[in-house]
Amino acid sequence: MPKQASRKLILKDGIALAGAELRERPFKALTVLDDRLSDFSDGPVDESDALVLNLNGAFVLPGLIDAHVHFDLAAEPAAYTRWTDPRAGLQRSLTCLHNGLVALRSGITAARDLGSVDPLVIDYAARVDRGVLTGPRIVAAGKPITITGGHCAQYGRTACGPIDAREAVREQVASGARVIKVMASGGISTPGDPGSPQFTLEELTAAVQEAHKFGLQVAAHAHAAAGIRIALEAGVDTIEHAGFADEETLDLIKQYGRTLVPTVTALNNIADGVGIPAATVSKSLQARETYRANTAKAIERGVRIASGTDAGTALNPIGGLLDELQMYCERGMSTVDAIRSATVHAGSLIEPDLGTIEAGKRADLVVVAGDPRQDLELLRKPLEVIARGRRISQSWMDETICELAEAVVG
Ligand SMILES: [Zn+2]
Repeated sequence: MPKQASRKLILKDGIALAGAELRERPFKALTVLDDRLSDFSDGPVDESDALVLNLNGAFVLPGLIDAHVHFDLAAEPAAYTRWTDPRAGLQRSLTCLHNGLVALRSGITAARDLGSVDPLVIDYAARVDRGVLTGPRIVAAGKPITITGGHCAQYGRTACGPIDAREAVREQVASGARVIKVMASGGISTPGDPGSPQFTLEELTAAVQEAHKFGLQVAAHAHAAAGIRIALEAGVDTIEHAGFADEETLDLIKQYGRTLVPTVTALNNIADGVGIPAATVSKSLQARETYRANTAKAIERGVRIASGTDAGTALNPIGGLLDELQMYCERGMSTVDAIRSATVHAGSLIEPDLGTIEAGKRADLVVVAGDPRQDLELLRKPLEVIARGRRISQSWMDETICELAEAVVG
């Protein structure tokens, strides 16, 4: 087979939000070669064999990143039960495909999938990496690791004792996981008390050491303050949710230099009478205000925040990242920091070359009509989405995929 020529894309006459600072960088041309950004040019460039997009002064920012999703779930009221429904395999596969396309339409070009019942999302992500399927870049956790009777115990890998915790990590690594998910406290969407810690420090330390040995980060689901403290001491890389964190614990997240992924929109649409399990409804409604207040306190303290939505869970479909960012802004975050949470900070949880516009970095980009630092709402409808250096045709997406969204979720 002849060697494939490299793909070349040239964006002309735009304004980039460049580097980790998202500084304004007007350019005549920004060249993209395959999956890497080349450099800016302030003069004419060689356009031969290139796809040229004239931006007419539009803004370019890094592709958005949702740092907490469940890609094989379709946001149905009792979403998790799909994981154990023996007839749901095909639907879960199609949901991954569908969610991938909807994500791209929403400007989401990468995500962390933080737990499923089997390696299905890992396999989907590998196919996207190989170019066999169209979708965002995904690092997937495989099975979440939890305690006997703990959060997601009926779906995940239960582990008891440090040796078994190591073994549980090795199993996920063997199945292709690129991030490890541990449950450091009870949860809201499955039986149990989100206010209780789960693993011991010894168990969690063993799991983290094992994951880090393989170069994988560890994401800890943790609502309870005690669970967060154990997770931090064990060395996890991100705290997910922190719904019941106290002020001291939020300070600790900052002192440890860890990243918080709030997923505070996840509870927005929870309501009685739509088929969500009763225990989930009652725990969600009780937790919602505390959760929102804690997110505000984390923002006020300057805790490093990466945006994530927990998309796929009940009535929380993929693509809602902008709503999450807007909730941060309503709780005191600047729009620049909100964009940073969805690019620079979330990117660093996936790979070092992701989340900023700089020469040599990955070629995931979003083009919007004006300056999103002035108006985040511009992110609602990107003019162009570039994923791995490929232009994703927005008109095709609008005419086909997004019209189907309601049908799939319903
Ligand atoms: Zn989750």
